[in-house]
Amino acid sequence: MSKFHKETLKCPTCQEAIEAVFWDSITIDENAEMQFKEDVKTGKLFKAVCPHCKMMYHLNYPLLYTDKTNHFMIYYIPNESKNAQLTFPDTSDKAYTYRIAGTYFEFIEKILIFENHLNDIVIELIKAVMLQKEKNLQKSQGVYFAALSDKKLSFQILGHEHAFISYPRDAYEELAKGLKFKAVDDFQLINLKTFNNFLISNNQ
Ligand SMILES: [Zn+2]
Repeated sequence: MSKFHKETLKCPTCQEAIEAVFWDSITIDENAEMQFKEDVKTGKLFKAVCPHCKMMYHLNYPLLYTDKTNHFMIYYIPNESKNAQLTFPDTSDKAYTYRIAGTYFEFIEKILIFENHLNDIVIELIKAVMLQKEKNLQKSQGVYFAALSDKKLSFQILGHEHAFISYPRDAYEELAKGLKFKAVDDFQLINLKTFNNFLISNNQ
């Protein structure tokens, strides 16, 4: 079940009141509308428009995203909400993957990774290798998984409009097969900085 609440904000531009919608949780199942899913990915659910001066604002707030079809839960907890009192759901269902996302881009990336049934630890390792090899990527604002096709994984390079870099799918499969992973059975933040903690080294 999806849940939201409303809050009245003061428009920073014209000082008038804005009634903004905050989604506390979103559940995607077979009945979920395509549009609803799209509105998460395009960021529409995180936007508020002032009815008086028409200024648009991006709202950052915590949101629990559950995909019942693909069995994953992502708690999007933006940095500015780090100290918020949040209630985490039960994580006893081992069929589910549980993650925390600290930025909006991480949040959307996790949704795309798990909708495609990929391993996010392997994805972070591939990104780390690409960042090391490609000097121009280091100057970008980040590299995020974007799409999967028969032959390749596509990554979007932020800060360069419509710039993508790809990685062969069979190389991904090889890598995933050769790695050993620690069990992750609770909400965890897995990104470029932390993914190493979830790998078991071959030297051990
Ligand atoms: Zn306004």
